[in-house]
Amino acid sequence: MQFKDVIGQDAVKSRLISEFKSDRLSHAKMLLGPEGSGKLPLTLAFAQFLLCDSPSGEDSCGACPNCQKVQSLTHPDLHFVYPVVVSKADKVTTSDDLRTEWNELIHKRPYFSLNTWLEYNDRLGKNPIIGVDESRAIMKKLSLKSYSDKFKIMIIWMPEKMNTQAANKLLKILEEPPKKTLFFLVCDNSENILPTILSRAQIVHVPALKSEEITNYLTQTFQVETGVAETMANLSQGNIVNAIDAVQGDSSKHAYFELFVKLMRSAYAANPIELMDVSEEIAALDREKQKNFILYGLHIFRESIIMNYLKDKLLNLRKEESEFLQKFARFINNKNITELTDEFNNAYYHIERNANAKILFSDLVIKLTKLVRKGV
Ligand SMILES: [Zn+2]
Repeated sequence: MQFKDVIGQDAVKSRLISEFKSDRLSHAKMLLGPEGSGKLPLTLAFAQFLLCDSPSGEDSCGACPNCQKVQSLTHPDLHFVYPVVVSKADKVTTSDDLRTEWNELIHKRPYFSLNTWLEYNDRLGKNPIIGVDESRAIMKKLSLKSYSDKFKIMIIWMPEKMNTQAANKLLKILEEPPKKTLFFLVCDNSENILPTILSRAQIVHVPALKSEEITNYLTQTFQVETGVAETMANLSQGNIVNAIDAVQGDSSKHAYFELFVKLMRSAYAANPIELMDVSEEIAALDREKQKNFILYGLHIFRESIIMNYLKDKLLNLRKEESEFLQKFARFINNKNITELTDEFNNAYYHIERNANAKILFSDLVIKLTKLVRKGV
């Protein structure tokens, strides 16, 4: 990641670069700021800058072998520590046990929160920690010879999740840091951090992002309309993780919408090839998404009925949905609504009980052709 790819935070970027240039780099820094301010991307960009073979005045080159290794998160001098849910059954004790997932998530979306990370590992609601095994792993990594001959960089993400034992071990390392080793503690909230550790680290405050910065990011990255992006940016209160979650939630709705339209069109046309196609497409989704798709379908049926019978009532629809329903809603009426709703509810019930998705959805689409035609 280069500084140019990091949203906003110009003051912090300049500060980091000028400290390096004037040789005032402290061996331990804490990047401290609210969730969703982009501290991890900033740290990654700075690590790349420090390891780059030919940085310009303000950024890494992005092309040298060291840059490429940082970008692919495989640089031997770049180490990560982050909270994990320790589980013997899953063979997870330290960060390294989830390194593949960690790299994947950063490549997928460098802006994420602890919850995003846990959700990515299917561990939402569990308690992640940086435990004492981790401090042993840190010592081992730091004893390795430097690969680039520049710096060894240890990024500790969410050090507030470090337990006391691990924190005490880390403190010892920070008191006598190995040569040419830089620690970056990337922290949302310093309240739970040992004061002795805080006193060893130089604190760099990272402010929340500005609304315009989030708006621009959303319009450029997700092609969201400016008005929608502005609303989401304002709601997110400077937390880009929330803004991204809101947009991605919306984009999955768009995917369900497209799938639903396809399903209803092929059911209406009673085109068996298209019907099998669409049922396979739904069956290929993961179970949670299949359930969400069913719920989405129930929502559209409900809105269709409201559109047909309660014309003056405000509908809970997005623009593309409302345009589609102008034509489609009339096929959903008292001749078929009960059965349609029953079939979808039934499908939901069976998905929850691990029914075979292929059979379930091919069965559902066949029933749909009859039910949609009933409404004509
Ligand atoms: Zn470079």
